[in-house]
Amino acid sequence: MKLITDKTIAIVGGGPGGLTLARLLQMKGAKVKVFERDEYRHVRVQGATLDLHEESGLAALEAAGLMNAFKENYRPGADYIRIADQNATIIYDEHQTIKETDRPEIDRGPLRTILLDSLSSDSVVWDSYLINLQPHGESWELQFKNGNKEIADIVIAADGANSKIRPAITSITPVYSGVTIIEGSVYNAADTIPEINDLVKGGKVFAMGNEQTLIISSKGDGSLTYYIGFNARADWHLKSCPDLSDNQAVSTWFKTHFPTWSEFWLPLFEHAATPFVVRPLMGMPTDQTWETANNLTMLGDAAHLMPPYAGEGVNMAMQDALELSNCLTNDQFTSVHAALKYYEEKMLERTREIAQISVDQTIALHSKGAIEHMMGIIS
Ligand SMILES: Cc1cc2nc3c(=O)[nH]c(=O)nc-3n(C[C@H](O)[C@H](O)[C@H](O)COP(=O)(O)OP(=O)(O)OC[C@H]3O[C@@H](n4cnc5c(N)ncnc54)[C@H](O)[C@@H]3O)c2cc1C
Repeated sequence: MKLITDKTIAIVGGGPGGLTLARLLQMKGAKVKVFERDEYRHVRVQGATLDLHEESGLAALEAAGLMNAFKENYRPGADYIRIADQNATIIYDEHQTIKETDRPEIDRGPLRTILLDSLSSDSVVWDSYLINLQPHGESWELQFKNGNKEIADIVIAADGANSKIRPAITSITPVYSGVTIIEGSVYNAADTIPEINDLVKGGKVFAMGNEQTLIISSKGDGSLTYYIGFNARADWHLKSCPDLSDNQAVSTWFKTHFPTWSEFWLPLFEHAATPFVVRPLMGMPTDQTWETANNLTMLGDAAHLMPPYAGEGVNMAMQDALELSNCLTNDQFTSVHAALKYYEEKMLERTREIAQISVDQTIALHSKGAIEHMMGIIS
């Protein structure tokens, strides 16, 4: 802890990566503030469920002393997968198997609550949308959209896919994966779309066909969240996207552009909350590398954004937090720069392989033979 005694640490972004790091550093007595863009804690509904992996997400929670809280909030059975074709015919059903839960699922909302509640009060400065970062002697000056300024000795970018800090570290930008998704949510799914809700059965459905995908997850609040994925040009969301505030427009678009898919799925679009969200899926180049900056680094999506089809993004963000907190506090480095350099080397080495798996998986699931590919992974 000698390295960061008396140093102020600013973590920009209060997602799972930033909050986990804040918790781990606070446990060692570090002076940490999290600057979060959201205006206040409950300003937005948190997205779908996340499966946490033993060697990464769960290892970070264990080190953070939060496994009991996790066990009280995870959702047994939410990890059960059904694989279906575009006609909703079930090809594989984990509900019919004897399965040991090695990757327990938790909704994003409860995970965020666990992490926020673990921090000392006033650790998170809400309504702090970082717009600029500039050197201030050996430290950094952070400038926020609301006009506030802060000086910090060490800055950690945990501000996600569109990080404002990343350009101060590297000019490498994300590349388009070739796949775009549209995300939607249907609340009170048992009453609104009972047939689809029964198919999901409290777990997840991976439906595939015609080089297109539909992934549906159940949430603890009774809603279903989903994303449809399809091969598209990088500018599809700007030029060809249906009106995302109009359920009928999205439903009609689905019928036209997913022509081999059954009408069974249409209630997902007709009953979704609007607006839907469109995302061209991006990923950082898997061979990326950069020179370590002074008193500045990044973690999670800011560092190694990847498409979501391998289910690793949150896990990698939390493992980054664990390894970075260790490097800064284990007294094995003679300078902050050496600690950050070691962390970044290990982080890039670890995420290179995972990011490649995510890219390969994205391509395979949006190619002919996607179901066979998925069955191969399962077997
Ligand atoms: C559709 C979809 C499904 C996914 N499914 C999974 C899955 O099943 N499993 C999995 O492991 N991963 C999944 N992921 C990936 C996962 O969501 C991310 O990898 C993970 O959230 C990254 O965590 P993070 O803390 O790095 O960033 P984020 O979760 O993006 O958090 C960044 C935080 O920074 C804040 N912020 C952003 N900009 C600023 C700024 N300028 N100033 C201040 N604050 C800022 C944001 O408000 C946010 O709170 C999925 C992603 C998508 C899009």
